[in-house]
Amino acid sequence: MSLISKWLRSRKNQCTECGAAMRLATIASCHGAHNNVSVWLDGLPYLECESGAHPKREPISDFAQRLIEEIYINDQIPWAELGALSGAKCLSCKTRLDAAGYENGEIGGEISIDDLPAFRARIQAMVIQCPACGTGQLLPDAIDVRDVDAAIRDALRSTGIVFS
Ligand SMILES: [Zn+2]
Ligand SMILES: [Zn+2]
Repeated sequence: MSLISKWLRSRKNQCTECGAAMRLATIASCHGAHNNVSVWLDGLPYLECESGAHPKREPISDFAQRLIEEIYINDQIPWAELGALSGAKCLSCKTRLDAAGYENGEIGGEISIDDLPAFRARIQAMVIQCPACGTGQLLPDAIDVRDVDAAIRDALRSTGIVFS
């Protein structure tokens, strides 16, 4: 089949191989890691054709980028706040966290993107518990976000889903 007809099929949410309608499905869990950061995605949505044998596709275009934005920007995963001069603060009660100890731990959150089914992301990295309110949160100071990025992409790659 020509590239243009494959492209047209993908635009109409049809399988590029057999033309069947693509349906939404989820992957129970996938995992990726980079340096000291591990990421799990539980219930990740994707598109599959009814044969089940043809390439899985991302559920919306730019899915990987949207996922990264939800994790860093839209507070769907708890990150401590980082002031320019004042150091890390609790995202919930704003207590300063510099005196609190941090350690390797796991923090998760529910990710919802547009009207796709929500799924869970869990990140294992440097975590701090707020001494005042007990909220567990990732400590941006102690984490290289490039490792988080690479771990997310590693997890996505492991699924075999074709991303744009
Ligand atoms: Zn197919
Ligand atoms: Zn707090």
